[in-house]
Amino acid sequence: MNEIKVTLADQLKQKPLAEQLEFGRIFTDHMFIMDYTAGKGWHDARIIPYQPLVLDPAAIVFHYGQTVFEGMKAYETPEGKVRLFRPEKNMQRLNKSNDRLCIPQIDEKLALSAIKKLISIDKEWVPSAEGTSLYIRPFVISTEPYLGVAPSKNYQFIVILAPVGAYYKEGINPVKIAVENQFVRAVAGGTGEAKTAGNYASSLKAQELVADKGYAQVLWLDGLEKKYIEEVGSMNVFFKIDGEIITPALNGSILEGVTRNSVISLLKHWGYPVNERKITMDEVYQAHKNGTLEEAFGSGTAAVISPIGELAWRGENIVINESKTGFVSKQLYGILTGIQTGKEEDPFNWTVE
Ligand code: PMP
Repeated sequence: MNEIKVTLADQLKQKPLAEQLEFGRIFTDHMFIMDYTAGKGWHDARIIPYQPLVLDPAAIVFHYGQTVFEGMKAYETPEGKVRLFRPEKNMQRLNKSNDRLCIPQIDEKLALSAIKKLISIDKEWVPSAEGTSLYIRPFVISTEPYLGVAPSKNYQFIVILAPVGAYYKEGINPVKIAVENQFVRAVAGGTGEAKTAGNYASSLKAQELVADKGYAQVLWLDGLEKKYIEEVGSMNVFFKIDGEIITPALNGSILEGVTRNSVISLLKHWGYPVNERKITMDEVYQAHKNGTLEEAFGSGTAAVISPIGELAWRGENIVINESKTGFVSKQLYGILTGIQTGKEEDPFNWTVE
């Protein structure tokens, strides 16, 4: 296995106060980096002081977006330990994304041990205030200087860490979401299932247009008929209709969320009927009309659970549960964040030190 060489920073940065924390603007003292060279494979795994990259302007990543990323969190427990939540799932998804983008596979065990080592070096950066965590951003970039459209011969795998506060300013309060009727995020056979930059770049326009009107994110419909519900900007989505909890089935264009998977396991564990299936926006609207739309919420690493208080669709405002946080959302948020921070029993052994 690739040995990880460590070079520590001479000067450490000032750590932010808990109240200064936002999402993804402040980074820790160190980073992990590893190179890939065609014929040689992944090599030179190292932890170095956090610093800018030097890349050729012709590097493929700048032109054709051959790149993937992950997002996960580390939490401080009441005993002062640091725990990760299901990190092996993120490593598996990273390699799935790599495969879709023609990026060579990464040794998942090595990547995880690199992440653990980096966090242990920057342990003082893991915030402890309620709702805060250390966000982990592993990513791969294609670095070969070449303007031809072809998979790069060289790559870098990098991990950076960012202490973060609560993702949504609104906190666990319900958010307003606009159903997107013009733009689409992904199509069957496209890259929707991969965590790759292009998916996010192409989502900016829709997001920008609704942000001014007070909507937190957009709800994407399928790319073909704009009929079936897919997911929210950075969350998977769940609806509680007449006692049953429904989430769109994975279809190749939806990102398979680690939180989504955990929510389904927890709900089943608690005995709720959970159904992964196709669901149309029309069905949600009808349920709202006949009074059976009980709750809706998004799930994702950043917000964990984000109740949806209102959906704007074709000029209608679908107000859900009187714009209050529903029981299931509250229960999931409490237990999931409790498991993540070591305050609740972890029946599935999801967290690792
Ligand atoms: N969908 C998209 C498009 C996302 O970017 C994310 C965030 N990674 C999610 C869903 C939720 O995934 P996870 O629960 O793994 O954070």
